[in-house]
Amino acid sequence: MKKSVVSKEYQTLQKGILALQENWKKSINPETITPNLDQAAMKAGVPAAALTSIRFDILLFQQWIEELIGLLGQHNPELEDKLAGVSNLVNEETAIRWIDESFSFNQLYFIGFAEEHGLEEWIPQFLAENALRPYLQLTAEKIQEEIQYAHPGSGCPVCGEPARLAVLEDKGKKVMQCPRCHAHWHAKRIECTHCGNDDHKTIQFITVEGDAASSIQVCEQCKGYIKVIDTRQYLAKPTAAMLDLNTIHLDFIAQENGYQAWGEKLLTN
Ligand SMILES: [Zn+2]
Ligand SMILES: [Zn+2]
Repeated sequence: MKKSVVSKEYQTLQKGILALQENWKKSINPETITPNLDQAAMKAGVPAAALTSIRFDILLFQQWIEELIGLLGQHNPELEDKLAGVSNLVNEETAIRWIDESFSFNQLYFIGFAEEHGLEEWIPQFLAENALRPYLQLTAEKIQEEIQYAHPGSGCPVCGEPARLAVLEDKGKKVMQCPRCHAHWHAKRIECTHCGNDDHKTIQFITVEGDAASSIQVCEQCKGYIKVIDTRQYLAKPTAAMLDLNTIHLDFIAQENGYQAWGEKLLTN
């Protein structure tokens, strides 16, 4: 087990962020989120959030960025200097850009932003992504009933995040969970989420000693993996984000064994 790889401080910080996000979500007016679910587009793998019109409250977004900076500084005083002045950079125009680029996972934009302003590379995207999530989560809540299945390889049908987490519910039903937006959807027990492979010979499960509730489903076709957690014994069901965080050791094991959270495209495709 590699549980020690993830520091306690990191987990505490992440839990602090999850608590902030739960709070922030309450201050979003649900009426500012208008889904426009186009079944054909969704079948083609377009995430539902991309088909949703969201009127962002930019002031709120800027305030959340400041709160995140405050939390990061509290957890690690060394960061305080590095984060000084960042909230001044996030004017209205930049906030809108951050929302757009975070929405579409545009890592290059954020790396460029960090370079331009002399920031550590991870900082802008980390802030933007975490301040965007409450909107994605509320979007997911609004449309959850319409979300049944996902197209293999498209990631989360609501936000497009690569799929990496499933739970087993009653009768061993497998339900995929998105740690980013908290959407969930059904999946076949033996099927690769990344490439659709359902051949039981090339879908394997890695189990972890001393952790009977967890396994890692791996696919030899595309080298993708997902974590599968049997939460039937849990008294209180954690949110997908918390479950993802608490099982991060499984990601290390999968990746050390050569598997990825995003399967490789097959050459034959
Ligand atoms: Zn999602
Ligand atoms: Zn696969």
